[in-house]
Amino acid sequence: MENKSSSNFLKNIINEDLKVGKADHIITRFPPEPNGYLHIGHAKSIILNFGLADEFKGKTHLRFDDTNPAKEDTEYVESIKEDVLWLGYEWDDLFFASDYFEEMYNRAVLLIKKGKAYACDLTAEEIRKMRGSLTEVGQKSPYRDRSVEENLTLFERMRQGEFKDGQKVLRAKIDMASPNINMRDPVLYRIAHATHHNTGDKWCIYPMYDFAHPLEDAIEGVTHSFCTLEFEDHRPLYDWVIRECEMETVPHQYEFARLNITNTVMSKRKLKQLVDEHVVDGWDDPRMPTISGLRRKGYTAEAIRAFAREIGVARADSVVDSKMLEHFIREDLKLKAPRTMAVLEPLKVVITNYPEDQVEMLEAENNSENPEMGTRQIPFSRVVYIEQEDFMENPPPKYHRLFLGNEVRLKNAYFIKCNNVVKDETGKVVELHCTYDPETKSGSGFTGRKVKGTIHWVDAAQAVPAEFRLYEPLILDQEEEDESSFIDHINPKSLEIVQGFVEPNIKGSKPHDKFQFFRHGYFNVDPLSSNQERLIFNRIVSLKSSFQLTK
Ligand code: ATP
Ligand code: MG
Repeated sequence: MENKSSSNFLKNIINEDLKVGKADHIITRFPPEPNGYLHIGHAKSIILNFGLADEFKGKTHLRFDDTNPAKEDTEYVESIKEDVLWLGYEWDDLFFASDYFEEMYNRAVLLIKKGKAYACDLTAEEIRKMRGSLTEVGQKSPYRDRSVEENLTLFERMRQGEFKDGQKVLRAKIDMASPNINMRDPVLYRIAHATHHNTGDKWCIYPMYDFAHPLEDAIEGVTHSFCTLEFEDHRPLYDWVIRECEMETVPHQYEFARLNITNTVMSKRKLKQLVDEHVVDGWDDPRMPTISGLRRKGYTAEAIRAFAREIGVARADSVVDSKMLEHFIREDLKLKAPRTMAVLEPLKVVITNYPEDQVEMLEAENNSENPEMGTRQIPFSRVVYIEQEDFMENPPPKYHRLFLGNEVRLKNAYFIKCNNVVKDETGKVVELHCTYDPETKSGSGFTGRKVKGTIHWVDAAQAVPAEFRLYEPLILDQEEEDESSFIDHINPKSLEIVQGFVEPNIKGSKPHDKFQFFRHGYFNVDPLSSNQERLIFNRIVSLKSSFQLTK
């Protein structure tokens, strides 16, 4: 598999660590919290962690960071596994942070015994207020000087469920005057009487991220723990926990920039809100930036991996244009997807000089840029459908498609000329009467005259009805200063459904079959709602893009 990550600073760090003997092997981990489905930002982290480990012949663990029972669920665990595998990665080991709860508890007891942790009765609000600020030192908790014995008893009683949620916490005893606010006696454990997806009701105290994460890494022997930049200021605490808990192996945390994409929300919390408020049809709605949504829309794992390689790994946050992701799916499908004709908004055309009961088969290339994909036969007869937009009654200058008296080529077929229109009672054109010229058959070498326009079509008698789902960004542009919620910027036109026809050749298409429909773009057979009676295509991306990779 092509998982060469582009040269990046993390690779340099690993090289250096190996050189100076700080590590003699590499273990990375991808540590999602199972509180939602993975999104494209997680793909960056997956590709980075698995990619680097592969490159250095190391291992990668998939670890569910399940320390917050209220929000976690096995549905999410299953979806995350599926998405990682689909992206093309296999974990060397699978772990749940909740399997370490006993060990974490024991390490917390060790801290208490060393006088490095204490039970605190302050409320969350009081703790926040007393923490101070960047310009002001924090105030010590009145419970800070409890004896080791009292702390041990209280922590044990917390575990036994003697206290209500929020009544007590366990805090590290570090330094309330530290310039780094994360070091001002951070909370290590909180009480939460909630049923955990894995441990059930066994526990009612749960470790906080800053305490749990370094321990998880150390227990598993992770050497390089990569996380996003907002954790940079937590690194001293990460190291403090490893040191003071006397962990046998010492992992190191390194930070990289989060992936952000224009017109895209990238947080499970926000994505969950879109699902819960029925703005979308679920986590795998093709408008979602989730891995499952992108897959359902028609993205391939190859395209996502190529995208991740291109954006690389940086130490500065930036926003990537969503057009760049589109660029990579076009590139991936360009030579792979058969090119066929689909008519999205049909207009009936009767070829008046074509024999009533005649049907002929015409040869068409499956992919004009990839001859290896061969050819197919398409039926042609007296009545065909073309796109409504390929005919105009009053055409502007330079309009080269059909209008009264004009001649165009039907792709892969003949020249036709429009002689007459039929209108309904509202004056709308509902049918065209054309004549064809048998001399002009595609591939016949006809050079008698030229036409300026080529339009696509499907044979009316044999065309297969189909539904097309066309997508636009779910979130509209938002000014940077604009502080309003993303929910206020939902695009009301993010989905348009149209009914039309496809060539009979693709009648038996299966979920996830992908096509390029002439002029309309790349489409994917919807895996959930499409079936043999009703073909449904999701537009993955249109054909054109102004986007250029700058090299
Ligand atoms: P979210 O806010 O979407 O829930 P998270 O960081 O809380 O994101 P986790 O499940 O904790 O989600 O993330 C698992 C891993 O994925 C972490 O190592 C995290 O750094 C990484 N990750 C999450 N979002 C992004 C992103 N946008 N870009 C790069 N890495 C990300
Ligand atoms: Mg999170």
